[in-house]
Amino acid sequence: MLRDHLISAAHLSRDDIEAVLDHAAAIDADPGIVRGRHAGRVLALCFFEPSTRTKMSFETAMKRLGGDTIDMGAVESSSVKKGESLADTVRVIEGYADALVLRHPSEGSAKLASEFVDVPLVNAGDGAGQHPSQTLLDLYTIRENAGLDDITVGIMGDLKYGRTVHSLAHALTEFDVRQHFISPESLRLPRNVRYDLHETGAEVREHTDLDEVLPELDVLYVTRIQRERFPEEREYREVAGEYRIDNEVLADASEDLTVMHPLPRVDEIAPEVDETARAKYFEQAHNGVPVRMALLDGLLGGDT
Ligand code: ASP
Repeated sequence: MLRDHLISAAHLSRDDIEAVLDHAAAIDADPGIVRGRHAGRVLALCFFEPSTRTKMSFETAMKRLGGDTIDMGAVESSSVKKGESLADTVRVIEGYADALVLRHPSEGSAKLASEFVDVPLVNAGDGAGQHPSQTLLDLYTIRENAGLDDITVGIMGDLKYGRTVHSLAHALTEFDVRQHFISPESLRLPRNVRYDLHETGAEVREHTDLDEVLPELDVLYVTRIQRERFPEEREYREVAGEYRIDNEVLADASEDLTVMHPLPRVDEIAPEVDETARAKYFEQAHNGVPVRMALLDGLLGGDT
């Protein structure tokens, strides 16, 4: 099991991933196997950017392991407002906690922060960089619904700024998965991610049109256009509203298609899709709890 900082999905081997997913499945089947295991331990939540699912599911996970959480609170009410550096903030907080979860708007911030602390630090999103714990729950959801070998996955939307995309794309190269990336030209995968994927020899294709690949897909992973990361609002407006799906768009898809989304959605998936068996995004969000329980159990030194 993982025992160290979790900064990027690119650092996860297939064995690391499978160990967490297997442990999460065992916890899902019987949460009693880890109940109370981390009583007296404390997880610090340091969120410099908004979060609902990640923060609350880490909190639930820690509490279900018998532990407790402390929360830095909103940036406005913390000493960050007085000009404290990220390095000083995490150095102080590690004295109060057994592990840290950090979300920050700057790419590279989690890596930097991890160099100043000895307790395990989980990157819960560093700007447009990475979001590896989301990837673990995404993989769990894919494994449960489509299996993780010999499948075709389409990843659509904001591939440039979407950190969940960057993490997932890296992790999928550990499995026998064909990856199709569907986006407007201006929101293609960043060059460094494309380079890394090609280096692994992964089967990767890029498209601007979903129709080209939809019938082949086992999984369609839809993402939100990351409005907050656009340097200019005008650039956001040029692409906002493209790449929406509804039941008509999905007419040519396989009956067994698994539709995922890291959430929050804005308008990328019409609510009518929620009522179909294809919609797995709420299940995906719920999987955050057993997966983060498994992850924390490992990071805090529980046996598996
Ligand atoms: N919740 C995910 C994230 O923090 C996805 C999103 O915000 O679009 O990256």
